[in-house]
Amino acid sequence: MISPYECRCGESYAPTAGRWRCDCGGLLDLPLGAAEWPPRSGIRSMWRFLDAGDLPWRDVTLGEGDTPLVEEEDGLHLKVEYASPTGSFKDRGAVVLVALARALGASRLVADSSGNAGTAVAAYAARAGLPAEIFVPAGTSEKKLHQIRGHGAGVTVVEGSREDTAAAAIARVEETGAFYASHVYNPYFHEGTKTYALEIFEQLGGVVPATLVLPAGNGTLVLGAHRGFEELRAAGVIDRVPRIVAVQSELCAPLAAAWAVGRDEPDPVKPGHTLAEGIAIADPARGSRILAAVGDSDGTFVTVGEDEIAEAHAALAARGLWVEPTGAVSYAAVRRLRAEGSPFVTGGPVVAPLCGSGLKASL
Ligand SMILES: [Zn+2]
Repeated sequence: MISPYECRCGESYAPTAGRWRCDCGGLLDLPLGAAEWPPRSGIRSMWRFLDAGDLPWRDVTLGEGDTPLVEEEDGLHLKVEYASPTGSFKDRGAVVLVALARALGASRLVADSSGNAGTAVAAYAARAGLPAEIFVPAGTSEKKLHQIRGHGAGVTVVEGSREDTAAAAIARVEETGAFYASHVYNPYFHEGTKTYALEIFEQLGGVVPATLVLPAGNGTLVLGAHRGFEELRAAGVIDRVPRIVAVQSELCAPLAAAWAVGRDEPDPVKPGHTLAEGIAIADPARGSRILAAVGDSDGTFVTVGEDEIAEAHAALAARGLWVEPTGAVSYAAVRRLRAEGSPFVTGGPVVAPLCGSGLKASL
């Protein structure tokens, strides 16, 4: 499964523990594969969908993936990603990064996160026996810090923005040569999140959903889910990918703003304080790729307000589903689109994720 990293400048690199961007400064991507369908493996985890040949994933796995798909009214299906081992969908990407780090002989990991990715990397690093240091912005929920420390990782709190936190992590990577377990920079994270798509396709009995409604901050789920369906399309299993409705908070919506005026790169914004802290990314590094994925899918962007997030959170709780506030944004968007009679929520199954557990952070 270990493929070369590629940069848009034309350079490519065999992955090494210290490589996290191109010498030109560009982001690294992976070549698109073709999905093997139906999957041959009977493993009951996301690894059933990955060609994991050269990754020591069995030493690291906690059984991630294989999350429930719960049918609601009117063709809506909710994918219960908070039923993941550390309580969020980030486990799908984190386990791949940590297995890759082991395969490449890394001796330590560094990551930066506003919460869920950091807790996931800390858990899988513990599992792999690798020391980890997680950089978090000041104000990160105590429950998440407690979880990261509980797994034995070091926590470095950075006064400043989410971007300042990433800069501090990168400085540590450069000074120590640690493996940068970044859900933004390392494209192997999307190899994990693409299994979200493959599971849905299988759980729906081989039906392509009409629409995937997905939260968008750094875009790890948008890019992964789109990649999963692209690889099914590349294999000739399906002839169209689902429309992607990407959801941002009204108080931090650089991608939606770019989409609205037809730009293919976002401009950084000054974020407000939103309940959806997990997607409050002012300057998403993979912004152009996220916009391109949504465009390729014939999708769109939606922004939701604080009241809508709180109402969606309460409505989910009233249905037995307990998510962290960020985990309610996709459902908030579905409710809005339905109220507007939007064509984006008609024409077949609509699938939205419940990304993080309500036990991690509350309203
Ligand atoms: Zn380059």
